[in-house]
Amino acid sequence: MNFKEYIRVIPDYPQPGIRFKDITTLLQNGPVYKEAIDQMKALIQEKEIDVIAGPEARGFVIGAPLAYALGVGFIPIRKSGKLPGETIEADYALEYGKDKLAMHTDAIKPGQKVLIADDLLATGGTIQTSIDLIKQLGGDIVGAAFLIELSYLDGRSKFDGIDVVSLVQY
Ligand code: AMP
Repeated sequence: MNFKEYIRVIPDYPQPGIRFKDITTLLQNGPVYKEAIDQMKALIQEKEIDVIAGPEARGFVIGAPLAYALGVGFIPIRKSGKLPGETIEADYALEYGKDKLAMHTDAIKPGQKVLIADDLLATGGTIQTSIDLIKQLGGDIVGAAFLIELSYLDGRSKFDGIDVVSLVQY
């Protein structure tokens, strides 16, 4: 399946020069969304995974169905101020702008094998920050899976020793 046919590219959003990959057009198509998750599952199913962690908000629409498909837990990585319990936080930079991510301090048990999932790998800043948080909690990162990878930004070079897989590359 050519998933690119279902991903809408919006130029100059949210700022000039960014070619925004809009996945809402893929998500709204049930069979295509299902096929994308099934194919992502196939890319990671050889791995030993205890939990999948995904950053809000689009990391949820990829990470949660993958976790369900594998029968493992899902850990939300959220923007600062959204989680009700005790948290750890870290600042990060985006392809556009910057933000702060948080996780519950008891979200991951030390030694748990964690796969990170998100919709899109751009510069890798979001995932680098997610990795830092997960490691602080004692998690063992077994890989990172993305629906889309912007190969021209070479975000994966940030993750030495971490297996990175993606379904669609630009
Ligand atoms: P980064 O931290 O640079 O890898 O950016 C990753 C996050 O920003 C992803 O979770 C995307 O949701 C969003 N993002 C960054 N660049 C784009 C883009 N060109 N199109 C769509 N989303 C993007």
